[in-house]
Amino acid sequence: MLWVGAALLALMAMLLGIDRLARAHLQVEATRTTVELAQHLQHIAPELATGLQADLPLALPAPTQRLLESLAGMAGMFRLQVYGADGHPVLRADLVPAPAASPDAPAADVGSPPPAATAIAQALAGQTRLAIRQGNGLTLPLVYSQAFVPIALEGRTVGVLGISLDQTERDELISASFRTAALLSAGALLASFALGVALWRRRMQAEQAQLSRLHYLAEHDSLTAALNLPMFREQLRLACAQQPAPPADATEPAASGPGVALLVVDIDQFKHINEHHGQAAGDQLLAQAAERMHNTLRGADLLGRLGGDRFAVLQTGVAGSADVKALAARLLAALAQPYPLDGAVAQATASVGAALCGTDGRDADSLMQHAELALQRARRDGRGRYGFYDPAMDALAQRRRQLTLDLAQALEHDGLQLHYQPLVCGRSGALQGYEALARWQHPVHGPVSPGEFIPLAEESGLIRALGRWVLHTACREAAGWPAGLSVAVNLSAAQFTDGDALVAEIRQAMQAARIPPARLQLEITESLLMNDTDQVLQTLGALQGLGVKIGMDDFGTGYSSLATLWRFPFDKLKIDRAFTQGLARDGKADLIVQSIVSLGHALGMRVNAEGVETEAQRRALQALGCDELQGFLLGRPQPVGKLAHEASAQTCPEAVT
Ligand code: C2E
Ligand code: MG
Ligand code: MG
Repeated sequence: MLWVGAALLALMAMLLGIDRLARAHLQVEATRTTVELAQHLQHIAPELATGLQADLPLALPAPTQRLLESLAGMAGMFRLQVYGADGHPVLRADLVPAPAASPDAPAADVGSPPPAATAIAQALAGQTRLAIRQGNGLTLPLVYSQAFVPIALEGRTVGVLGISLDQTERDELISASFRTAALLSAGALLASFALGVALWRRRMQAEQAQLSRLHYLAEHDSLTAALNLPMFREQLRLACAQQPAPPADATEPAASGPGVALLVVDIDQFKHINEHHGQAAGDQLLAQAAERMHNTLRGADLLGRLGGDRFAVLQTGVAGSADVKALAARLLAALAQPYPLDGAVAQATASVGAALCGTDGRDADSLMQHAELALQRARRDGRGRYGFYDPAMDALAQRRRQLTLDLAQALEHDGLQLHYQPLVCGRSGALQGYEALARWQHPVHGPVSPGEFIPLAEESGLIRALGRWVLHTACREAAGWPAGLSVAVNLSAAQFTDGDALVAEIRQAMQAARIPPARLQLEITESLLMNDTDQVLQTLGALQGLGVKIGMDDFGTGYSSLATLWRFPFDKLKIDRAFTQGLARDGKADLIVQSIVSLGHALGMRVNAEGVETEAQRRALQALGCDELQGFLLGRPQPVGKLAHEASAQTCPEAVT
């Protein structure tokens, strides 16, 4: 609308300008005609000039008068006046029906023409003066020109000719042509203007859309449409800043109004999905997971992607922890549904850690840290679940940080030891070898369990150095045992990230200790085979190729136990101690152990049973056909100096299958 108004205004201004132009053109045309006419007059009526020079009373002869009248008809001249050298009129001839008024009197002049006296004086000075005037259309033409032209004789101005010409027709003609031209160009101008405006508007819209897109990209994650980390942090910061401070002993959001909670969501074992289905499928899963979370949230809640498979939800309007629990449960349920990917269906679970603004943290940073701690706890507790922040977690996290630093120191300064637990023949009770188990005597905390420091080493990357140390130490110390005794070393999945380096390391450890590969056993857990399986299987194959025995540890506790057996020809299967401990208490445990033994034997594997603590368990396991037994009953892990090896002389007969 604004543009149309502006365009019309411009058009009006143009038409006004055109009128002025037309009038100026008329002035030029009228002057040219008048001067020509005056010259012509002087030519056909030379008595005018001579009479004036002689200062004679002027009277035009009849033929001259007729000539003038015919000229008037042709040129539109309706009045002729002659002024003497003193400026007084000496002749006036009305050549068409005479106007009543004096030519000096008529109405509106165009522009500011000089009054007649001035114009006559100027003409006497040698200048032609012409003004365009408007008449009433009755006594005077609607438009006419009034001109005063000097009459010169022998180089001297002897008088002035006053010539009035009807310009009505010419004015109309000029005005009409100017207006037509103006309208045509205005039309063209308007069309190009309209086109320009349309193009300009379209460009502005495109630019606006591009700007909005850039703005969106700056704030959102392109894969999942969730807020990106900086934007989510900012929203969290703002939400926390608006929360009133809670009373010191509060355990729920402030009673003064609805609170805010942060839930950090992590897709469990996402790495495996990427490795199993490919990265593109992994991306699809993340996008679907984000969409499900979006659909689970309420209007004011926000979803952010913190990076990788880690998301965060800013929950608003929280009346208490029950609201947060309800949302966490809804998120877990939504995320646990199968994910249709290109040509496959993937299953995944998620873990959630939650913290309430105010009670669990006053600002975005502490809330993030605390929700993260709660998440770690949920993951350690078995994944697929949610956990709330608890102030005790801070102390735990601090301990874990400190222990990690101390572990690095211990590794560097020989602060770890290996203890060896006997592995005995199930049938004869003969000592077969030992399992090497890492021990750490912390200078302040005392003994730290490998169940605590091995995961810390895995998370911090120290496992590489630790694994190397265990391998070299175990091989070196086993070299001092009787030749028939083997040593079993536990390997973490993290040691398999560079398979070739691991194979080289193991070869080097055996060579350095001068023990034959047949004396070395390596124990891995099922979780290893959930990772990059092809590469792992290749590494395991290479290790077996060296002549080293490969054992599957803690068998039966993972959720793909049977699949792992099918994938690799293990030399040994170690039944998890949970089954051993269930023997004689629960008939099902006997059945399971029996099945595992049969299965292992059928696949050509030796079967070990861990955690033998009682004579009854030992007898039951013997009866079920276990090839090897291990447990406190048969010997606790001991430092190398305390190993007796006394039963090593006996042999272990083969199983009868
Ligand atoms: P694992 O490989 O299954 O080791 C057997 C665990 O069972 C040892 O616990 C051992 O002390 C314990 N154990 C043996 N007999 C009995 C018994 O009769 N009753 C009970 N209740 N427990 C028994 P430990 O030494 O605490 O090690 C725990 C886990 O830590 C090991 O389980 C292994 O997975 C890991 N680990 C230990 N040393 C190393 C190591 O050098 N490298 C790696 N990667 N992991 C290690
Ligand atoms: Mg083991
Ligand atoms: Mg075990």
